[in-house]
Amino acid sequence: MAEPSETVCRVCGYDDGVEPFWEGGRPDEGAICPCCGNEPGMSDVSVMGLRGYRGYWLGQGVPWNSPGSRPKDWDILEQVERIPAEWR
Ligand SMILES: [Zn+2]
Repeated sequence: MAEPSETVCRVCGYDDGVEPFWEGGRPDEGAICPCCGNEPGMSDVSVMGLRGYRGYWLGQGVPWNSPGSRPKDWDILEQVERIPAEWR
């Protein structure tokens, strides 16, 4: 059974609902989160790994990798609530 595609960033919860970060259990090569800058398959393979990256990103003041993509009314707390439970 194929694993579902993941359009939610495992690190920050960003989700455009279209572009998958992971598909069928494999990272989408070339995909990069416009919010936290996570590259699927790099820091988000394990919970421990992505927690390290998430902590670093938070410590930097949650900078957007693509500032132009940041919604005016962006709410980080609302976004992180969308992180799947298994990746929190
Ligand atoms: Zn992200």
